[in-house]
Amino acid sequence: MVLFSEDHTQETRHRGRIEVICGSMFSGKTEELIRRLKRASFARQRVEIFKPVLDTRYSESDVVSHDNNSIPSTPVDTSASILLLSSEIDVVGIDEAQFFDEGLTDVCNELANHGVRVIIAGLDMDYKGVPFGPIPGLCAIADEVTKVHAICVKCGDLAYISHRTVADDKRVLLGEKEEYEPLCRRCYQKALRGESGRKTE
Ligand SMILES: [Zn+2]
Repeated sequence: MVLFSEDHTQETRHRGRIEVICGSMFSGKTEELIRRLKRASFARQRVEIFKPVLDTRYSESDVVSHDNNSIPSTPVDTSASILLLSSEIDVVGIDEAQFFDEGLTDVCNELANHGVRVIIAGLDMDYKGVPFGPIPGLCAIADEVTKVHAICVKCGDLAYISHRTVADDKRVLLGEKEEYEPLCRRCYQKALRGESGRKTE
């Protein structure tokens, strides 16, 4: 698997395509999204990040890691809004894509068919290991899928899931990253067994 492509053609060609960057929490999805968008920006492409409008209680702690040369990000309430706001954009970045509606798949196809490079970052699975929202469908239609991994906090292997460390059954528990830990498959199974006395499992 090629994680960091140095192929420059993506920055210089105006050709529509869909790229998905997915993985668990703490896997560097957003960083990779920003890295690609910055390169496109250096190549004088017009770039923008869209992210879902989330419950306001959590809105301050989400998504794009802001630094001095951060890329403008626009919160939108539905995937259809991305289409409306992308008319002057060469490269569309979408962060936290797992929280968008299923219409996102069609929106991305539509953009790519019109020559836009679409780069999507999102959680592949929820904390129970269930494929998350529109991400599986997006992986299917993507020209390129990059799966990034966090490191298992128990053993140092590659993590595969964001294990929730608190007993809360709500699927979307946002902006509470201290309540998750990246675990590999083996340590996740161990954690589930260890928790069998608790009410979550
Ligand atoms: Zn492990």
